[in-house]
Amino acid sequence: MKCSIVKELLPSYRDGLTSEETAKDIREHLAGCKDCQAYEKEISQKTSQDPSEENALELLKKLRAKIRRGSIIAAVSVSVLLIGLIIFARLYWIPLPFDANRMVVETFQGVFVTEKDPDRQDEYKILCELDSLDLETANKVLNGEYEIVESVLTSARGINDVSQSVRSRIIERDGQEIRVLYYCYSKTLWGSIFHGDFSPYRESLTAVGITQNTKDIGTPPVCKPLMTEVYYLPVRNLTEKLDCLSDEEFDAMREQGSLIWSGMAV
Ligand SMILES: [Zn+2]
Repeated sequence: MKCSIVKELLPSYRDGLTSEETAKDIREHLAGCKDCQAYEKEISQKTSQDPSEENALELLKKLRAKIRRGSIIAAVSVSVLLIGLIIFARLYWIPLPFDANRMVVETFQGVFVTEKDPDRQDEYKILCELDSLDLETANKVLNGEYEIVESVLTSARGINDVSQSVRSRIIERDGQEIRVLYYCYSKTLWGSIFHGDFSPYRESLTAVGITQNTKDIGTPPVCKPLMTEVYYLPVRNLTEKLDCLSDEEFDAMREQGSLIWSGMAV
């Protein structure tokens, strides 16, 4: 047997893959050939390090690192998506449809009391309910110094976490001044999902009659009794939508709302 053939067959021989006859020939050759003995020693040293095992370990490490990287990316993506959804759910407002049992308009009597801003020396008027006047103011009411007016209060009874949007304008309809007021309750998508719509305890009250003409933001409220119409108008972003309308367009919006109350009010 030639050295080159023996060397070629040696790995198979070591793994016991050669035929008995070939193995015998190789054994005989090795016994008499220093060169091939040295070669056998060389490859036996190499294989004793068991490169296959080492490679497998290396591969496993790489695989683990890759999986770890993959799961970090997946975890980050899921977190970003979740945070995005939460932000959206908290910022997306949904107007509530009108519910006559839970959305009520009441009137109350009050007086406009002049107050002074101690910091800026500005005078402004606030509407005080007759029921909650201090003695001094009550005396002024009795002396006729303060005029009793009627105002409107909207309330959302037993509705959780609502926000109220209100807009009113004094417009001219058929030559008459009239105060048209729109309001709407909204909930966030978050609130709709995680808080029940109705609770017997919550109540949100807002005086609406006094709101000023939104066309002249910055001017004092118009504190005079006027024919007033209060509409419930379930529209998303009510204030932004109404603020860019002309008086005629503003008035026409009542066709999309429900008339809740009308009468003389401030
Ligand atoms: Zn040889």
